[in-house]
Amino acid sequence: MSQKYRKLPAVGKLLQSPIVKSWLSEYPLSKISKAASSLVDQMRCEIEELLPDDFQESVVLRRLKAMLEKDLQPNLKRVINATGVVLHTNLGRAILSKESTDMIVQVAESYNNLELNLDSGKRGSRYSHVEDLLCELTGAEAAMVVNNNAAAVLLVLREMAMGGEVIVSRGELVEIGGSFRVSEVMKESQATMVEVGTTNKTHLYDYENHITEATKLLLKVHTSNFRVVGFTKSVSSEELVELGNKKGIPVYEDLGSGMLFDLKARRIGDEPTVQEVVKSGVDIVSFSGDKLLGGPQAGIIVGKKKYIDRIKKNQLNRALRVDKFTVAALQGTLLHYVKEEYEKIPTLQLITETEEQQLEKAHMLVNQIKESKLAIECEIIPGFSQIGGGALPLEQLPTHLVSIAYPNHSVSRAVDFMRQAPNPVVPRVFQDRIQLDVRTILPEEFPLVVETLKFVEKRCSNE
Ligand SMILES: *Cc1c(COP(=O)(O)O)cnc(C)c1O
Repeated sequence: MSQKYRKLPAVGKLLQSPIVKSWLSEYPLSKISKAASSLVDQMRCEIEELLPDDFQESVVLRRLKAMLEKDLQPNLKRVINATGVVLHTNLGRAILSKESTDMIVQVAESYNNLELNLDSGKRGSRYSHVEDLLCELTGAEAAMVVNNNAAAVLLVLREMAMGGEVIVSRGELVEIGGSFRVSEVMKESQATMVEVGTTNKTHLYDYENHITEATKLLLKVHTSNFRVVGFTKSVSSEELVELGNKKGIPVYEDLGSGMLFDLKARRIGDEPTVQEVVKSGVDIVSFSGDKLLGGPQAGIIVGKKKYIDRIKKNQLNRALRVDKFTVAALQGTLLHYVKEEYEKIPTLQLITETEEQQLEKAHMLVNQIKESKLAIECEIIPGFSQIGGGALPLEQLPTHLVSIAYPNHSVSRAVDFMRQAPNPVVPRVFQDRIQLDVRTILPEEFPLVVETLKFVEKRCSNE
């Protein structure tokens, strides 16, 4: 054992090696020396398992080089989504169109008129680049954008109801992913939540009976990620607006997903469009930019001008404001809607693609896999994709899956290697099969999927 310790290379000696010196054009000395000491520490821990050969300088240097390469590679990177969940929060939700991405690159590479009015030469507003588009598309009088919809809810409650009461139905007290809860946001905003009705039934009189001098807002929250079925009753936006008008209390609807393109017309789901909700007379509506809208992460607030103006002036707004990349990407996405180029919005495209299109894609992928002569069994089977992102939880989109069996290896190891590959693939697993849902795999990613399957085979056979 002590002999092994004596064989451990010294950091100083490693740094003197001509090979390490040749790396100095690529990596700073401080980084190499840090990696070298952590490698030596790691080898000290592993010493019992190490073989005499592992101490050879060439072996140590190879490990050091691999460590440096791994450390200095971007860690946020492309992941191939083979889950079939179109809006996957862990995988970054909506993907953007070419036009939107180009706009992000353009404002990143050059100065721009984010807050300069080019007509007057005066200071402009960053919202101006999307406000008119949002008003045109939703029919609202005014609009603004913040960091995400959670921020929008916080900001609206704070401006409209701080120190007062907000009435909300017990059937709508949602918790969404990342532990965003209506009750917690209400606390943060310093408004008092008044829960009315029951889990399954809330009537208009439940709201009416709880209106007091202190009532500042009537809140309706979209139950994005769950449905209560059976003996149920909830109050519609129209009914709530009528009550609000009668009592002089504004109505705010947190719409969650916020759909501008009517998926109902394609027989998908029962989600109301933002336009429909605005038309019902709701005073303030907020929704996410990166759910069904298919844009960047953002919280969009639209509604009556007198309220939006107040919300824009709230101090908190400055802390929640969007950056130029979001404005650029959102503008790009909204322009597709205005031009009615829905097929250019990847989220809408992926959701509305037919079962036949999926079958065609599945055949393309299987052919590429077969050409690569991998030792796996694969077949095409029917299945269902999901929309995800807390939108339309019950909707099942018919799709086709490439189902893969590894006759000689454990499926769970194969899945680990798929994730850890240079081109990570996140699949579904069902019983002892890996399932690739082609709906969310872009055709240009098929060769990368094959590369990853090769990587998995190599790693599995090394075990
Ligand atoms: C998703 C969602 C939010 C939060 O939106 P983010 O943009 O993710 O912050 C808030 N309310 C509802 C009802 C939602 O579905």
